[in-house]
Amino acid sequence: MIRVVNGYKRFGKDEVLKNINLEVKKGEVVSIIGPSGSGKSTLLRCISRLEKMDDGIIEIEGVKIDNHSEGGILRRLKGNSNKNSSKVGMVFQNFNLFPHKTVLENIIEAPIIVNKMKRDEAVEIAEELLKKVNLFDKKDFYPSKISGGQKQRAAIARALAMKPDIMLLDEPTSALDPELVGEVLNVIKDLAKENLTMVIVTHEMAFAREVSDRVIFMDRGEIIEDAPPEKIFENPDNQRIRAFLSKVM
Ligand code: ATP
Ligand code: MG
Repeated sequence: MIRVVNGYKRFGKDEVLKNINLEVKKGEVVSIIGPSGSGKSTLLRCISRLEKMDDGIIEIEGVKIDNHSEGGILRRLKGNSNKNSSKVGMVFQNFNLFPHKTVLENIIEAPIIVNKMKRDEAVEIAEELLKKVNLFDKKDFYPSKISGGQKQRAAIARALAMKPDIMLLDEPTSALDPELVGEVLNVIKDLAKENLTMVIVTHEMAFAREVSDRVIFMDRGEIIEDAPPEKIFENPDNQRIRAFLSKVM
C-alpha cells in the first residue's frame, strides 16, 4: 500500500506538487490522468524515490520512506539497501533497457546484483516471466532487434523480476506505434487481474476506465479529483476535467 500525506515538491520556484494526499491499497489499480506538466511523472518518481519531495510523507507498505537522502537507484548502486528498496518497480515510457544486454540479461541483472540471487535461479525466474509476457522466443535478442511493444514487455518483466509489491508505470504505451499498444496493455491488464498493486500514468482513457479501481485527475501540481472511473469519465465534479476529457477523447 502507498500513502502520501501533504506531499509537496518544487523545482526552483516552480511548485510542481502541492497538497498531494492519496492512498493506494494492496491490489488496487489507480490511473493518473491530466494535462502535460501537471506533475504526474514527478509524483511517480517521488514514490519510487527517484526524486525527493520537499515536504510531506510517503509510506510504502506502512514504512515511511526517507525523503532526505539519495534516490533509489543511487542508493542501490551504493549497496545501501533500505528495507523498501526493491518493493517498488517502475516502468518508463522509453523502456530504459540496457542496450548492450540481451532481453534475458536485462531481466536477471538486478536480481543477481541487488538481491544476490544465484544466476540459475534468476534465469529460471526470468524465463517464467518472459513466458508470462509472451516474449520467451526473444530472450537472447538485444533491445535494438525487437519492437517497441516487445521492449516494453521486456521492461515490465524486468521490473517484475524484483518481485515488487507495487508497480509504477509512467505512460508505458506513449512511445509505441498504435498497433503495438494493445499487446502492452494486455500484459498490464493481466497483472491487474493478479491483484498487483499498480499506479499507471496513461493517456489511454479507454484502458484507464477498464482497468482502474480509481482514477486520479491532476492539474497544475494538484489532485483535482480522485474517484471511480465511471465518475471521472461520466460525471466529474470539476470543469477542468470535462475540458481535458473533451480534448483527449
Ligand atoms: P507529461 O504529461 O508531459 O509527461 P507530467 O504531468 O508528467 O507531464 P512532470 O514531468 O511531472 O509532468 O512535470 C511537472 C512540472 O515539473 C513541469 O512544469 C516540469 O517542467 C517540471 N519538472 C519536471 N522535472 C523537472 C526537473 N528535473 N527540473 C526542473 N523542472 C522539472
Ligand atoms: Mg510525465
